[in-house]
Amino acid sequence: MVLDESKIPTHWYNIVADLPEAPPPPLHPGTREPLTPDDLAPLFPMGLIAQEASTERWIEIPQAVRDIYRLWRPSPMIRAWRLEQELGTPARIYYKYEGASPVGSHKTNSAVAQAYFNKEAGRTKLTTETGAGQWGSALAFACDVFDLECEIWQVRSSYEGKPYRHVLMETFGATVHSSPSDLTQAGRSFQERFPDTSGSLGMAISEAIEVAAADPNSSYSLGSVLNHVLLHQTVIGQEALQQLAEFGEEQADVVYGCAGGGSNLGGLTLPFLRENLDGRTSTRLVACEPKAAPSLTEGEYRYDFGDTAGMTPLLKMYTLGPDFVPDPVHAGGLRYHGMAPLLSFVKHLRMMDAISVKQREAFAAGVLFARTEGIVPASESNHAIAGALREARQAAEDGTSPVIVIGVSGSGQLDLPAYSEFLAGDMADS
Ligand SMILES: *Cc1c(COP(=O)(O)O)cnc(C)c1O
Repeated sequence: MVLDESKIPTHWYNIVADLPEAPPPPLHPGTREPLTPDDLAPLFPMGLIAQEASTERWIEIPQAVRDIYRLWRPSPMIRAWRLEQELGTPARIYYKYEGASPVGSHKTNSAVAQAYFNKEAGRTKLTTETGAGQWGSALAFACDVFDLECEIWQVRSSYEGKPYRHVLMETFGATVHSSPSDLTQAGRSFQERFPDTSGSLGMAISEAIEVAAADPNSSYSLGSVLNHVLLHQTVIGQEALQQLAEFGEEQADVVYGCAGGGSNLGGLTLPFLRENLDGRTSTRLVACEPKAAPSLTEGEYRYDFGDTAGMTPLLKMYTLGPDFVPDPVHAGGLRYHGMAPLLSFVKHLRMMDAISVKQREAFAAGVLFARTEGIVPASESNHAIAGALREARQAAEDGTSPVIVIGVSGSGQLDLPAYSEFLAGDMADS
């Protein structure tokens, strides 16, 4: 089911306006006082800082951003008939597919918005970090659209081990460095301290922040975790609600999404939560995370740093601690030690559930999905599919017919090495 372009949402939805209490604010790492807009001004443009702290329910999407969204939005919602048949389940399964965007994931929804507000503020360059490269390629595309320079630090192990990822970013005109690099003070000191390091997201973040902070024409850009990123992603859930109605469903009984930093999950589920809070529905929302990085299911709800070096503001979130190093699972986008403060708060208020999935169960779900629906999902998305399969199989046993919605956040075309390992029986079950 593809909606007409005229149904692309006109506003982003801000759940903060509808929650029973205000979420705990981010704190300055030095003073431990609530952060002020001025604290963030060296890194982000005011338009995005205002969104980060906004309590308004609806924030208008600029026409220029909606025009770019038309390249892939509204994204399709599809009834998974063949998957239902294969499972022999009376459940009705729908999936919202974000893999048809220019770079194959939901991340473009926020990248385009961030590039727009930076351009508007007169910035000429954005810097960022990337691991496997999904966020880097989304931002590279968005900077190309708005004629901004884009400089990306990619974790060395990915830069060297997944060479096609940086070619994708370079195709959109970005400059990509292997991190740690020689170009920053932080990078040089990491190289001195850890001579043969394979790099980490924490190191790459430090390099990208250092360059943005030193140049008034540059900003730093983050692909998940922060409120404004989740806000931009709410186009997903708003469209999904319209599409379910067009399918003739009164409500979803349960929504499954994968959770790394929380942006695709928040974007999909927060509009559903609004319907719950208004008393119109009673939809269960479920975060699916890897067993190897179980922040929501096994972490603590407390203030913690967003990075390894302890340079970012303190965020109140479910966290495994900034030193947590997960087993090397294939869903690179889900390996973050924390979780978006907004989703953490929603979970804390018991408005969302969470489960964890080991990677072999996730890939088995992904392969079944590919063989029935014809789409190879991103490694991350497989966790959401695995959660939904548990539910659909249970429904078959119980003889119930719940309406299940799955967020399929991306395409797995660049994850084929992981599929290869799974199909060969060589994947560790972490
Ligand atoms: C980055 C990514 C994720 C994880 O990030 P969230 O912010 O939790 O959404 C999930 N799926 C895909 C396809 C990704 O690229």
